[in-house]
Parts: sequence; structure tokens; C-alpha cells
Amino acid sequence: ATKPPILTVNNIEVVYDEVILVLRGVSLSVPEGEIVALLGPNGAGKSTTLKAISGLLRTEDGEVTRGNVSFMGEEIANMAPEDIVRKGIFQVMEGRRIVEDMTVIENLRLGAYTRRDNGVKKDLDMVFDFFPRLRERTGLAGYLSGGEQQMLAISRALMARPKMILLDEPSMGLSPLLVKEVFDIIRQLNKELGITILLVEQNARMALKAASHGYIMESGKIVLDGAQEDLINNEDVKEFYLGGG
Ligand code: ATP
Repeated sequence: ATKPPILTVNNIEVVYDEVILVLRGVSLSVPEGEIVALLGPNGAGKSTTLKAISGLLRTEDGEVTRGNVSFMGEEIANMAPEDIVRKGIFQVMEGRRIVEDMTVIENLRLGAYTRRDNGVKKDLDMVFDFFPRLRERTGLAGYLSGGEQQMLAISRALMARPKMILLDEPSMGLSPLLVKEVFDIIRQLNKELGITILLVEQNARMALKAASHGYIMESGKIVLDGAQEDLINNEDVKEFYLGGG
């Protein structure tokens, strides 16, 4: 049985610069404690959907002009991104976006910037237990390998103690071995820390393997959705997204 949704996106339209209509009525829901994949070709509007949820759309002159985004029963569309972080949603942006000329610890502290409690030190330990390799890296984040930078980007999200993480193409630019490692970590965050995950990926095969449910988006609309098994066995999904067979 599916758990109740922690996040519901209901028929949203998104416009950039007041004229460019990019999302044309997107609806999706993410059950609490699950991993949901959002797939589709370049330019379909996947990143825009994540930014509409996290509020980061506003930093690019984008706006939700119709529909609702509801998180734990509360309307959050067009709310300020730092308020959305405080409510428990953290987006890990595409391309990792760590601060290269700051140290690992300084990057991690940035993730906790919205917090007012003093558990930050304890959480640094929690993060380093989760990613032991990061503890050993005391230099600037710019010197980390691509895989380590992705882990740092995810760790930084953990420092905000999120209930839900939005991940934008975490496998981008990584070798197959590291892709597997990053997906193992995603599963662990979900299983061990109970974090709900909405995952945007080009690597549809890996994403569907990790997710309980998937949505496929084309040209600003959801064109197909279903449970993991249904999508993996769907002929169109196989042909267009899983490379045939
Ligand atoms: P990709 O995998 O290439 O990132 P995507 O599915 O995530 O693709 P989006 O990045 O959401 O797609 O882009 C959807 C559409 O919105 C594209 O046509 C893009 O050119 C346009 N777009 C994205 N960001 C902006 C922006 N800040 N201003 C104007 N148009 C934008």
C-alpha cells in the first residue's frame, strides 16, 4: 500500500521572465519515505519542476502562475527558498554547486545556515560517519574528485536536517563506478535516515531501480507515470528511456 503524500504538486504552470511558459500543468505526488524519479529528455522542464518546489525558481525570475505545491499539507508555491528549507525541503542542484574555494567543513556549515539550534557540531559528526571519506579531506572543496564533490553536495543538504531532498541529476559527469556509489548513498539516505527523495535523472535505468514510482515528462507536461515495475516493463519506456531490449 502506498503511504500518504508528503508533497503534492497540483497542475502547476511556471513562467520565466513573465512570458516564457515552461510548465504547462504539471501534477505529481511523492509519498512520505519513498524515492520518486522524474525522467524525461533535456529541456522537458524537470529542473524547473524541482525549482518550483524548492522556491529556487525565484532566483531565476521564474514564478508559479497557476496550481499549488503542498508540503505536509501547507501551501508553499512561490514561498522564499530559505523558508522552504526551514519547512524541510532541500534541493541539491545540478552540477553540484559546492563552493570550491571554501573547505569541506565550511561548505557543510553553509548547509546549516537556516538552522537556529546548536546541534550543528553533532550533525557534522553524523555526516562524516555517513561519508567517512569527507572527514579526511581537510583542504579546499575544489580539490575533491567529482564523486567526492557530489557527496559533499548531498552532505550539505543533510546539514539542513531535511525531511525531503530534491536531487537534480546526481549522476551527471560521474564514472559508472561512482554513479553506482552515489545511487547506493541515495538509497541509504532514504532507508537509514528516512528522507523522502524526488530524483531527476538522465540515467533512467538507475533512477527507476532506486525509485518506487516514476514520472515521465516531455515539453512541460507529465506524459506517463506509474509504479517502478510498470514503468520498467512499459514498451515505450524501454524503447525511449532504457535503451531498447
Ligand atoms: P535539462 O536536463 O536540460 O536541465 P530539464 O528537463 O531540467 O532539462 P529545464 O532546465 O527545466 O529542463 O528547462 C525547461 C525549459 O525552460 C527549457 O526550454 C529551458 O530553456 C527553459 N528555461 C530554463 N531555465 C530558464 C530561465 N532561467 N529563463 C528562461 N527559460 C528557462
